[in-house]
Amino acid sequence: MTILQMPVRQLGLMVNSFARASTCGTRLFELLDTELDIKDAPGARDLVVTGGVLRFEDVGFHYPGSGGRPTLSGISFEAWPGQTIGIVGPPGSGKSTIAHLIPRFYDVSPGAITIDGQDIREVTLQSLRKAVGVVQQDAFLFTTSIENNIAYGNPWARETRIERAAESAQLHNYIIGLPSGYTTIVGERGASLSGGQRQRLTIARSLMLRPSVLVFDDSTAAIDAGTEQRIRAAMKRFAKDRVTLIISHRLSSLMHADQILFVEGGRIVERGTHQELLTLGGRYRALHDLQLRPDDDRPALGAA
Ligand code: ADP
Repeated sequence: MTILQMPVRQLGLMVNSFARASTCGTRLFELLDTELDIKDAPGARDLVVTGGVLRFEDVGFHYPGSGGRPTLSGISFEAWPGQTIGIVGPPGSGKSTIAHLIPRFYDVSPGAITIDGQDIREVTLQSLRKAVGVVQQDAFLFTTSIENNIAYGNPWARETRIERAAESAQLHNYIIGLPSGYTTIVGERGASLSGGQRQRLTIARSLMLRPSVLVFDDSTAAIDAGTEQRIRAAMKRFAKDRVTLIISHRLSSLMHADQILFVEGGRIVERGTHQELLTLGGRYRALHDLQLRPDDDRPALGAA
């Protein structure tokens, strides 16, 4: 039995978070400790996804060992299937923390996060993590074929599904151009992929899992603007039935979101559509003026 045949769906999320955490040593151990603290509540039932409505209800959070200093306070928003929520804000404002709370890497206090009305603390972790896909900045690859890397969440996946996911992630054409195509070995000892290609591979992997909630945590940072736009277009089909959260410091990644939350100091300080936030003339507007010259954003606005 290979690692790919193990029940690794939920392990995948943890592996991703460990890979990210290991980039700064101490965080790895904090995360490991926390993961061990997070357990199924007695009598926990599987999450039943009926529609896939995600709700943050007055969520607060502080990291263990932070002396109770809140990282997040009063975070409330609701996202319906088919909706995209963009989360933007300065570094350290709490954006990634919001992403980590949805698959329950940590528990919130006070407040609650619900999916279709079920508090995520009251459902089994396995069912929750099946329903929540997270694409993180540091993509983790196993030393195995590209197709196994895409499908590892679902070892019985059909080839056509793997290829469709790769197409949506704008990776298919690159793969079929390789001498061994989808059977090319990647990872440390195999063909090395660029940062952007690794991220596209993890996007394809997440799409294979068909989660109800798909979280992109700065996931397009290593992808150039043209590819990002093609991924976004291809993703529309996938985004139709699920909640998509895009967490980024790059406005072009999330300006098309149905609702944009501007987070600062662990609070949502502004919310609205791109246009509403521009009109508001606050923090989002200032970031916009800093990041996007009028020439950059004119075609994108026209397409919105
Ligand atoms: P952003 O994604 O907006 O850059 P984060 O959610 O990563 O912000 O971090 C928010 C705050 O929480 C920061 O002050 C950061 O240092 C702190 N933080 C993040 N992860 C941990 C952790 N594992 N333990 C303690 N503090 C953390």
